[in-house]
Amino acid sequence: MHGPTYATTELLARLVAFDTTSHKSNIAIQRFIEDYLAQHGVASTLIFTDDGEKANLFATIGPRDKAGVALSGHTDVVPVTGQSWDTDPFQMVQKDGRLYGRGTADMKGFLACVLAAVPDFKRRDLKTPIHIAFSYDEEIGCVGVRPMIGNFGKSLPRPRMVFVGEPTSMSVVDAHKGPVRWQVTVTGRAAHSSMAPLGVNAIHWASRVIEELQRIERDLMASARDERFDPPYATLQVTEITGGTASNIVPVTCRFGFEIRSVPGLDVAQIERRLRAFIDFECLPQMQRVADEAGIHLRLTNHVPPFGARADSEVVALALKLAGQNETHAVSYATEAGLFQDGGAPSIVVGPGHIAQAHTANEWIAESELDRCMAFLGRLADWAEG
Ligand SMILES: [Zn+2]
Repeated sequence: MHGPTYATTELLARLVAFDTTSHKSNIAIQRFIEDYLAQHGVASTLIFTDDGEKANLFATIGPRDKAGVALSGHTDVVPVTGQSWDTDPFQMVQKDGRLYGRGTADMKGFLACVLAAVPDFKRRDLKTPIHIAFSYDEEIGCVGVRPMIGNFGKSLPRPRMVFVGEPTSMSVVDAHKGPVRWQVTVTGRAAHSSMAPLGVNAIHWASRVIEELQRIERDLMASARDERFDPPYATLQVTEITGGTASNIVPVTCRFGFEIRSVPGLDVAQIERRLRAFIDFECLPQMQRVADEAGIHLRLTNHVPPFGARADSEVVALALKLAGQNETHAVSYATEAGLFQDGGAPSIVVGPGHIAQAHTANEWIAESELDRCMAFLGRLADWAEG
């Protein structure tokens, strides 16, 4: 079966034109991709959310009875709100060897390369299948890929390896940090501020918890060092805080959020236990001596695992070979690779475009990056035929 062949840039223009900002539906772009694949004789599986607003897409080219190499990307993009663009972010503009538009670098450029390579993949006599795995809601905490990974080994094959095509300028990334985020709600008791001892000051108790977080931060800097990262340790910081109602009231509520940018091997659960122990033994008894209802509620809101490939794994060797490189790199931004790896599918990050252009106004990708990615995918097909 021969569907229409598009140039990679033409496909990228089509993908950019779908406004797939994370808070919007991605069904239209997945239907477009499903149609495109169907025209080339490739059947897709769409895995929908309960409300039908979003879907993952999974497809296999080549033999269906064995595990293959998954080419993984996310269909969503970050918002353009508040950014000053020179052109319409959802209308790709080609200028001086660059392609401008939201998502060109992160990461519709990679999706376009994968789709443009499909006619070539179909022509080949693949011994190892190539899977296409396109997710939703990566940009809001790698949300969408989780149910896809949950189906590996059930309705979907578990890939033998996964190439995550986030923008690395086609260098091979085998490690990244993982953000873990919590929300803390401190509940005290309100009182007239002239009668402070009758109240429980939620902001003061929040600050005690924050002091403990700063002690943990210092411990992280001193331990768990991994010199491949910049900075070479897991960072911890409070990222937002609100509390209090008026200048003459003992504040009853204080809420704050904090995050750890974890490195591979760090025991985040142990850090949470340390914090909970501090709350239970150092804070709550004193707070509740004044007010039974006082409390400190700690809630994990997002956990993207850090990623570290095994140095001797097949996926690292293959990615280096296909990219024509002899060393791997570590980065501080997060991807879906850690989730794939934890889901039993060894992963690597390699894709076109530079991370410095991701999420920015006037986001762009160099056309030469798409060419390099196409060559990489051509070499992957050579390997999969062997
Ligand atoms: Zn991305």
